Amino acid sequence: MIMELYALTVHEARARLEKGEISSVDLTRAVLDRIDAVDARVNAYLTVVAERALGQARQADARWAAHRRDKSTAPALLGIPMAIKDEICTRGVRTTAGSKILGKFVPPYDATVMEKLNAAGAILIGKTNQDEFAMGSSTENSRYFVTHNPWDLDRVPGGSSGGSAAAVAADETLFALGTDTGGSVRQPAGLTNIVGLRPTYGRVSRFGVIAFASSLDQVGSLTKDVRDAATILGVIAGYDAREATSVNRPVPDYVGALDGQSHPAEERGTSGLPLQGVCVGVPREYFIEGMQPGVDAVVRAAIRQLESLGATTQEVSLPHTDYSLPTYYLIAPAEASANLARYDGVKYGYRLEESDEMWEVMRATRGDGFGAEVKRRIMLGTYALSAGYYDAYYLKAQKVRTLIKQDFDQAFAQVEDPEHTSGVDVIVAPTSPSVAFKIGEKVNDPLQMYLADVFTLAQALAGIPAISIPCGFVDGLPVGLQLMGRAFDEERVLRVAYAYEQATDWRTRKPAL
Ligand code: GLN
Repeated sequence: MIMELYALTVHEARARLEKGEISSVDLTRAVLDRIDAVDARVNAYLTVVAERALGQARQADARWAAHRRDKSTAPALLGIPMAIKDEICTRGVRTTAGSKILGKFVPPYDATVMEKLNAAGAILIGKTNQDEFAMGSSTENSRYFVTHNPWDLDRVPGGSSGGSAAAVAADETLFALGTDTGGSVRQPAGLTNIVGLRPTYGRVSRFGVIAFASSLDQVGSLTKDVRDAATILGVIAGYDAREATSVNRPVPDYVGALDGQSHPAEERGTSGLPLQGVCVGVPREYFIEGMQPGVDAVVRAAIRQLESLGATTQEVSLPHTDYSLPTYYLIAPAEASANLARYDGVKYGYRLEESDEMWEVMRATRGDGFGAEVKRRIMLGTYALSAGYYDAYYLKAQKVRTLIKQDFDQAFAQVEDPEHTSGVDVIVAPTSPSVAFKIGEKVNDPLQMYLADVFTLAQALAGIPAISIPCGFVDGLPVGLQLMGRAFDEERVLRVAYAYEQATDWRTRKPAL
């Protein structure tokens, strides 16, 4: 089958590069041409660095030639094009976080994840659109333009990493990075029929990632399949001495974990079914009234498919789920209000000088530099942290956060007593309560917008890994299946996701553009 180069997955492209069937220049040109052909309609990219990318591709081809000659293994992503959310600092390439206040900011350094991707040989194609400072669920809060869902250009791609998701879904890159504070990788992945992985808190360094809510922010991948998600995680994970919350643990072989061969034989079982021995928890609280009926049906069918692959399912309860939304919308704005204090009109380039009085400059710069949603969050957060209300709001929210985390601990816990139900290995749920909504539909109703994330907030509050994978369509629009795991158990999450993906063909469906 002849496939357009831009439509390849990372592993497919690598196999062809390895054999010398294609060059990185061919691949990079194909992606740049694809951007020329469709991005005027999709609006995924804020910045495209075509010349820089082609220069890197030529270098990659020279390195590939050397590797083929001496039969040595090339770095994991040598010559592979990528797109990066504009929340992540790229040395020498403008990084706006979707905000006007960073409109002139060209970082003098790379985020750690960029250093790792560069070392792995990946090629930066451009920076993707997003909600301002990653605050939003639709990419409509970008201060630049709205990104369109490739499956229906009148609909949102989700957010806040909507540009990254749309770019992958429209084959305008082979993979992308996003950030996920409360769902911003998983939700847009679900709404665009691609794979979005949020790793465990502490697994991937946030050094050089523009801070939104520091106890929640995490970098994640947006890819065309689960194997690519495993590959990218293997590249970006690992300890970073420059990041205080980075956890010093070895990085496992995530790709090797996909087919279970690196798992103990007794877990793999003898039935030949890929998920034999895996217990999947189905949380009562995630199948709620108000969920779009078609979404509910598609997700339940996916759960039956997991059973047919050998998994056992068990109903579990995560009783504090209802509190995730109010808890998140106290903690995230509180931390954001502190993190955003640094944008004062002195650093980062943007400054409105309407007077020579310092407070006036700051007021004017922040007044114009920040958009409405960011201001709303700064006000909410400042209020929640103020002396008289700290205990009532922020401290209370932190206590509820512990209860939310304990819900997961209990569901995942192994109970010794054989009569008793033992803990589950992964938990399955919808990624979002509905398919992609119309552009403009929720933009004037912040509470409705916040509800788009009801299913993706608790995992972030608990710090656990979760992935969204394609699991079907409702009225021609994609639905995401969310799989969550224990902290640092990405291997198992990926393995279950991979088994489901191999047994289905949802990911092969592409939007007509
Ligand atoms: N939509 C959520 C918010 O607006 C989550 C965003 C994110 O994960 N960055 O805060």
